[in-house]
Parts: sequence; C-alpha cells; structure tokens
Amino acid sequence: MAECIFCKIAAGQIPARIVHQDDQAVVFEDLNPQAPVHLLIIPRKHFMSLNEAAAEDRDVLGHIHLLAAKVAAMRGISDGFRTVLNNGARAGQTVSHLHLHVLGGRQMTWPPG
Ligand code: 5GP
Ligand code: ZN
Repeated sequence: MAECIFCKIAAGQIPARIVHQDDQAVVFEDLNPQAPVHLLIIPRKHFMSLNEAAAEDRDVLGHIHLLAAKVAAMRGISDGFRTVLNNGARAGQTVSHLHLHVLGGRQMTWPPG
C-alpha cells in the first residue's frame, strides 16, 4: 500500500533498524521502545489487522509467531517475552499494517493498560 509506513520499511524505502527479513516478514526495532527489547514483526503483505486477515494468511500469521520466539532467543529474552498484536484504534493500534510487538528485557506486568 503506497502510503503505509510499514510497507515502506518492508520495501527499504524508509530506514529502520532491521533485525531479520525473509520472503514473508520483516523484523525491526520499534522507534519508541517500551522495554529494553522492543521489536516489531510485520508481514510483507499489507493488511490492517486480524479483522482483515483471510484463510490464505494463516501461514504468515504462524510464521510471525515463530519468528517472535526466534528473535527473542537472538536477544536473550527467551525466559520471558511478551507478544502483543493490537487490533483497531480502541486496542491502541496506531499503524494500519498488522504488526506483532515483541517486548522483553524487564519484568512485564499484568494486566496490560
Ligand atoms: P501500535 O500502537 O499500532 O500497536 O504500534 C505501532 C508501533 O510502531 C509503535 O510502538 C511505534 O513506536 C512504532 N512506530 C511507529 N512509526 C514507526 C516508524 O516509522 N519506525 C519504527 N521503527 N517504528 C515505528
Ligand atoms: Zn502496509
């Protein structure tokens, strides 16, 4: 999608601190980290949230979760990390391209805000 900031990151059109990329997904550092480790995992395919995901997206949705564990291990936080996927403005979603947050490196609290 032309005006989507995360599509532009995936295409290399705007800079990001890329941690991993493959044919389906890109992982990069969050610009405004909320924990010592705060990564974002995006599918290369643009869709806004789980509400817009289709059956054909099952594989990439699984892939980004497996990647979460992989990058958590790379960053040494396998003993405790949180994945967050905000769906819609009321859940706090501010960028309209589905993304999985990976947070860790500190004690996480519950319930989330
Ligand atoms: P959301 O609130 O939509 O779940 O999360 C969006 C996340 O994207 C936020 O944590 C925000 O800091 C991050 N973000 C927004 N714009 C950019 C950007 O241009 N580059 C990077 N690396 N992160 C961004
Ligand atoms: Zn996009």
